[in-house]
Amino acid sequence: MDIGQFFAISTRSPGWITVFLKMLWHYWSDINTRLLSSRDRRFTQGGALMGHLYHKIFERGVEVRTETALKELIASDDRITEVKVEIIGRQYEIHPNHGVVLAAGGFEWNQELRDKFFQVPGLTRHSSSPEDANRGETIVAGMAQGAATEHTEAGWWIPTMHKPLESASNFDEIHQAAFDVGRPHSVCVNRNGQRFVNEACSYDEFGVAMVEDQLKTGANTPCWLVFDANFRRKFTAGGFLPSLIMPDWRIPADCWDHYIFKADSIRGLAEKIHLPESALSTTINNMNQYARTGEDPEFGRGNNDYDKMFGDPAISPNPCLGPIDQAPYYAVPINLGDLGTKGGLKANSQAQVVDGNDKPIPGLYAAGNNSGSPFGNLYPGAGGTIGPAATFGFVAANHIASEAGKNLKQQADDDDKGKQEKVA
Ligand SMILES: Cc1cc2nc3c(=O)[nH]c(=O)nc-3n(C[C@H](O)[C@H](O)[C@H](O)COP(=O)(O)OP(=O)(O)OC[C@H]3O[C@@H](n4cnc5c(N)ncnc54)[C@H](O)[C@@H]3O)c2cc1C
Repeated sequence: MDIGQFFAISTRSPGWITVFLKMLWHYWSDINTRLLSSRDRRFTQGGALMGHLYHKIFERGVEVRTETALKELIASDDRITEVKVEIIGRQYEIHPNHGVVLAAGGFEWNQELRDKFFQVPGLTRHSSSPEDANRGETIVAGMAQGAATEHTEAGWWIPTMHKPLESASNFDEIHQAAFDVGRPHSVCVNRNGQRFVNEACSYDEFGVAMVEDQLKTGANTPCWLVFDANFRRKFTAGGFLPSLIMPDWRIPADCWDHYIFKADSIRGLAEKIHLPESALSTTINNMNQYARTGEDPEFGRGNNDYDKMFGDPAISPNPCLGPIDQAPYYAVPINLGDLGTKGGLKANSQAQVVDGNDKPIPGLYAAGNNSGSPFGNLYPGAGGTIGPAATFGFVAANHIASEAGKNLKQQADDDDKGKQEKVA
C-alpha cells in the first residue's frame, strides 16, 4: 500500500472500497508475477526508496558486501587506517583510502547499551526495527577511538505490542500500535487505571509520555489499550485485525488472556488485567462524558488536525472521542517500542565524528542513527530520521571527496616541486 491507500482503508474514508478493489485488481491482474511470487512488483514507501537507491548504486558500479559486519576500527598516525570486518565468522581487513562513514544504525538490539544509556531501558524484543540487526557495534568501535556520544538517552519511540509468532513459538511478532492507540471508543491507561497522555499524539510523544509516567508512577511500560466492541469491529488493536475481518473466534485460543483480554463488563476486565476497578471505571466514565461534549479537558485529544487523522469522520462532535460503552470490553498490553535509537557518536556539521573536545577524528564520519540526531531529543515528524540520515551521508561523502581532492592536489604540487628541485 502507499500512504494514501493506507489512510483511505484504515480510516474507511469515503471511496475506500474503490481504493481497496483497485489495489486488489492491480495485484491479481499481474498474472505473470503471481505465478512466480506472492510479493507485489509495485514498490511503495520504504521499499520504493531503497529500490531506487539500489538502482542508482548498481548503475554506478558500486560494490555492495552484504552480511559483512564492522568489528573494529584501527587508527595509526592519528587517522583511521584499517577496518576489521567479519562475514560468517571469517575476518578480514579493509584499508580505506580517504575515509570511513559509519552508517550502521543505532543500538536498539543491544540490551547492555539500552540499560546503560536509557532512563527506562525497555526490551530489545519490543523494538520494531529488524530483529537483532542493529547492536551498536559501530558506536562502540567509534567510542574506542575516543569519539564522544550524544542524545543516547532516548529511542525513536513507538507503542508496540507483541504476539507469539505462529510459525515459531519461541519468537515474538512485533506489531506497531501507533495508530491504534488514538482511535475512538478506546483509552490508554497505566497500571493504576489512569490516563497519562493524549493518546492521538505522535508515536514518539506517546513513548516520551510512557517513559515520564513510568518514572513518576512505576506503573507504565507496559500500559493498556482498553476498548469496546465498537472499536473492535472497526479498528486494528496491535496485531489483531478488526472483527469485521478477524472475528473473535479467529483469534488463536492461546492469545486470549495472554495478549488480548475480554470481559462482559469493565469490572470483569479490570479483574482480568489486575487494574484497580474504581480507577478504570472513573477513567472510562470520564471518556464517555468527553465523547458527548467533544472536549477532553485532561489532554485535549482531538484538538488538532494530526489527532483527527486517527479519528473516525463519522463520529461527532469529536472524531477522536467515541463512547466506550458497547460490551464486550477488551484490553491489549502496549509496550515501549522503538523505531531505532536517537543517540550515537557525536558528529559536527560536516558529519565528522568528534572527540570529547569537539575535535574531529581524522577520516571518521557518521550518519543516521549511528550518530546523535541533529534534532536532539525531538521528533519533528515522519521523515525526521531518514531525512537527516540521507542528508548527512551526502554531506560526509562530499567532505571526503573535497578533502581527497585537496590531498591529491597537495601530492601533485609536492611531486612538481620535487621535479623542479631535481632539475635545478
Ligand atoms: C517500521 C519502521 C517504520 C519507520 N518509518 C519511518 C518513516 O516513515 N520515516 C522516517 O524518517 N523514519 C522511519 N523509521 C525510522 C528509520 O527507518 C530509521 O531511523 C532509519 O532507517 C535509520 O537509518 P540508518 O541508516 O541510520 O540505519 P538503518 O536503516 O537501521 O541501517 C543500518 C544498517 O546497518 C547494518 N548494520 C548493523 N550493524 C552493523 C555492523 N556492525 N556492520 C555493518 N553493518 C551493520 C544493519 O544491518 C542495517 O542494514 C521507521 C523505522 C521502522 C522500524
